[in-house]
Amino acid sequence: TKRITLAQRPTGLPDDSTWSAEEVDLPAPGDGELLVKVDHISLDPAMRGWLNDVRSYLPPVQIGEVMRAAGTGTVVESNHPDFAVGDAVTGTLGVTEYAISNGEGLQKIDTSVAGPATWLGALGMPGLTAYHGLHEVGEMKEGDIVVISAAAGAVGSVAGQLAKAKGCTVIGIAGGAEKCAWLKEIGFDEAIDYKNENVLKRLREVAPKGIDIYFDNVGGDILDAALANLRHGARVIICGAVSTYNDEKLAPGPKRYMSLLVFRAKMQGFLVFDYPEKDAAAIADMSDLIGSGKLVARETVAEGGVEDFGQTLLGLFEGRNTGKLVLKVA
Ligand code: NDP
Repeated sequence: TKRITLAQRPTGLPDDSTWSAEEVDLPAPGDGELLVKVDHISLDPAMRGWLNDVRSYLPPVQIGEVMRAAGTGTVVESNHPDFAVGDAVTGTLGVTEYAISNGEGLQKIDTSVAGPATWLGALGMPGLTAYHGLHEVGEMKEGDIVVISAAAGAVGSVAGQLAKAKGCTVIGIAGGAEKCAWLKEIGFDEAIDYKNENVLKRLREVAPKGIDIYFDNVGGDILDAALANLRHGARVIICGAVSTYNDEKLAPGPKRYMSLLVFRAKMQGFLVFDYPEKDAAAIADMSDLIGSGKLVARETVAEGGVEDFGQTLLGLFEGRNTGKLVLKVA
């Protein structure tokens, strides 16, 4: 069976030399363990950060270790009281065809509610990120003017639709006309194509009163453009900074941060894992929204083997995905 390990730490964008494909014997679950056949692997911008040997919210992936990844799969052998053969599960399974688990962090998924890819997207970590970011950090309320970057991605597309469902005015920022058209289709009030438009100017046009919530997924110049357009008491949610993850040198910091002072605004970072007691209710809420058609869960599904992981991951930094990017393991 095949798995992907970290061969060496990349500088800049990862490439083929970053990864090593290994062929190993099918592992056997020990006492209290189970074996999962992986069917979908999640691709996440955060993976780039896990490759750096720096102190962060999780330890870096070590050289020679199986690459860390969330995934879904089916239990094929079980010595664990809570999991039976045939159960569909999700957890941090790694970039591998078969994963051993002791059940920690592993959750059963109901594939009659949504398919495995959606459990990695709108009903998984990205959906929870959008939900907690808006509610816990953004203190979202009806009528807010909400701006979201990487709006056509996994987190952004859910965040925008949650804000719409709450009665906010929602402006998305994404790369390309096609993604912007899709944002309008799923209910965004405005969409700004950062690859072809001046974001700062367009924000002034579409949000003349300023922004109450900026949900930042990208950092860099787009963060600056949003900071330049805040409204009194605005909340800037630091969810991620995908535009900087492959930088070899630290990018200059936000140039417009003094607008936090002018507009008595706050800027706060958070992690999806910060509100575990609220996850179940959030998933239930989003399942209902999917059921009632108010939340469209979209995935870009790449099909291939685990050896296609490295190339698939690059898609996130090139914007090849709309919605959640997953690798369906053939
Ligand atoms: P996405 O599905 O949004 O994929 C990444 C998207 O980023 C691409 O599709 C691309 O869209 C956009 N992008 C890539 N490079 C750039 C660039 N240079 N400038 C602007 N946009 C760019 O990924 P996720 O939804 O999984 O993650 C979104 C963000 O949320 C990331 O920053 C991630 O790190 C963060 N995150 C944070 C979590 C937390 O706990 N705080 C948890 C999960 C995610 P386009 O075509 O529009 O450029």
